[in-house]
Amino acid sequence: MIEFKDVSKTFTTKDGTLNAVQHVNFNIEDGEIYGVVGYSGAGKSTLVRMLNGLETPTSGAIDINGDKISELSGTALRKKRQKIGMIFQHFNLLWSRTVIQNVMFPLEVAGVGKKERREKAQRLVDLVGLNGREKSYPSELSGGQKQRVGVARALANDPEILISDEATSALDPQTTDEVLDLLLKINRELNLTIVLITHEMHAIRKICDHVAVMEEGKVVERGTVFDVFRNPQQEITKRFVNEEV
Ligand code: ATP
Ligand code: MG
Repeated sequence: MIEFKDVSKTFTTKDGTLNAVQHVNFNIEDGEIYGVVGYSGAGKSTLVRMLNGLETPTSGAIDINGDKISELSGTALRKKRQKIGMIFQHFNLLWSRTVIQNVMFPLEVAGVGKKERREKAQRLVDLVGLNGREKSYPSELSGGQKQRVGVARALANDPEILISDEATSALDPQTTDEVLDLLLKINRELNLTIVLITHEMHAIRKICDHVAVMEEGKVVERGTVFDVFRNPQQEITKRFVNEEV
């Protein structure tokens, strides 16, 4: 279980202080797909950057299966971060490496032996439907295929959580659906908890169990996707729900 306990993050810049995330409280159960939706600047990326230990909360704490990620450092933090997979809008692949080498990379970093690396990476390449493209370079792949590599790489170290930060935002609607179907398949087959950041309600409705709506750093509404779509409470949520066609 992931627990956000009164999490806040304030940035101090030359223009003053900015409350990027404010008093966020909610839990994500194991094995669910939890959507986080909000307009640009709402604090979504900051929230998940704290979840994977890239940022430290200014106050509050984040527990992942009982471990306070927000209080880990050094080797303990690195170990925990290996168990959190992440996929991104712009894929963040290694462009000079092939598909299979990209997927093997996190295993290399984790010190896994060569034979095991190759076998594991091959299984993941098969899982994401890229069998036959092992030796391709990212530049030779479509956007959807690049994101499949991103997914395979994120799964390399058997993560406890997969975070998707706008991972379908650069894709066309059909490719978006294919990647969402892949995430759903992984969630079901591996019982993997997924945190899905998006501004597309379609993605939320298609694969999420719960959704939290963020506005100006705060979670202003949350609930099951069914309830939130059926009976949105806040103005912003109504806007999101009605925008979806
Ligand atoms: P988007 O949909 O555009 O990705 P977001 O919801 O992910 O937006 P964040 O990236 O979390 O929003 O940003 C929230 C606020 O915090 C913004 O006002 C942003 O400018 C600010 N912010 C984020 N990171 C930093 C930083 N390192 N230093 C200063 N301000 C930051
Ligand atoms: Mg963001």
